[in-house]
Amino acid sequence: MKDCDWIVTQDPQRQVLRDSSVRITEGRIDEIGKLQPNAKDNVFDCKRKALIPGLINTHTHLSMSLFRGYADDLELREWLEKKIWPLEARLDGEMCYHGALLGSLEMTRTGTTCFVDMYFHMEDVARAVGEAGLRATLSPGMIDKPDKSGTDLERKNTLKFLEHIRRLRNPLLSFAVGPHAPYTCGEETLLWARDVAEKEDALVNIHIAETRREQAQFEKDGKGRVADYLDKIGFLNNRVLAAHSVWLTKSEVKLFGKKGVRVAHCPVSNMKLASGGTAPVPEMWEAGVPVGLGTDGPASNNGLDMFDTMKMTALVHKNSRWDPTIMNAQRVLDMATLDGARCIGREKELGSVEIGKRADLVLLDLRDPNLIPIHRKETVVSDLVYSANGQNVDTTIVDGKLLMINRKFQKLDQEKIAEEVGSSIARLVPQ
Ligand SMILES: [Zn+2]
Repeated sequence: MKDCDWIVTQDPQRQVLRDSSVRITEGRIDEIGKLQPNAKDNVFDCKRKALIPGLINTHTHLSMSLFRGYADDLELREWLEKKIWPLEARLDGEMCYHGALLGSLEMTRTGTTCFVDMYFHMEDVARAVGEAGLRATLSPGMIDKPDKSGTDLERKNTLKFLEHIRRLRNPLLSFAVGPHAPYTCGEETLLWARDVAEKEDALVNIHIAETRREQAQFEKDGKGRVADYLDKIGFLNNRVLAAHSVWLTKSEVKLFGKKGVRVAHCPVSNMKLASGGTAPVPEMWEAGVPVGLGTDGPASNNGLDMFDTMKMTALVHKNSRWDPTIMNAQRVLDMATLDGARCIGREKELGSVEIGKRADLVLLDLRDPNLIPIHRKETVVSDLVYSANGQNVDTTIVDGKLLMINRKFQKLDQEKIAEEVGSSIARLVPQ
């Protein structure tokens, strides 16, 4: 990647380099600086472009791309019960595959190189993500069924998917256990998930304390605070990646810190579904909790653009605390890169442009009007968070492989995917 106007390294000094290049060898970053090409190098001219680490989306449901715009402006319970769940009951593997392809297309287009997903028909999702060439941690969502055989089947499905991921031998894909939430999974399922994760050295991907209603229901059922309850049953540990975590008390935040729980903060989804309140992210930092950013599914967002999520994150915290300094651009970019990598335990390999790390990289086109001017080195990061959007992404690279160059997809066929999504929607949504 030759002569980038700017390289936002996200290294420990948070250096921003001017007129520099990056050499990639076998999927890793090999050299950074003022480089001259070797004879065997494949040279990409990066003048008038900014190079940044690929963005990491720590919480989404890719196949829900099919539901984008299907049901907006509703309260969470009504949204789920009347709109989303009836549609989800009709989903089959083929539909989830098409939804995941569409989601992969959008991620590639908007500079996300790695994500964490939970959904149904995950073998089909894995097939789509494999074709797209993205990096992902995938978990089949588990919900307790009214009868024991249904619940057993969910567990069997999870173990079957684990085997499937092993058989694929795709180094970009990994497995997580996905108990949906403490209000849809009982103690037995939660502890089963904990034990499988321990045995398989995997993450536990779960929604925790998303809405006030969830907390109120817990208290009504005599279980007390959600996070305290999860600790009491022995569920919380450093394998848990807790999406949302909006309704936590200060002592629960400290508990997360003590137990090593990681958080996927999804402010756009929380605002759209009016979860109320804002996740106590500054307190989480104080308690040493790694906090990544997530879009959540495209039905509650309505997109997968992490630039949009970065900007919203900064704005919602500034506004809710009456303090424009509470969350600066550098801190927000950290959440979308390095802290996202920490959330999935990959901080040694991902999240920054440093020698030895995997080459998950994104180029933005600085000729786009909304990225002009860039005043100086010190403003580049805030330009990324406040001025940029996903449509400024010009090139997306994962593990040294080009997924998109000059806004042209290299692996996915946009036209064909649009057509296939159309036929899935025709089968899915009653006319
Ligand atoms: Zn979610």
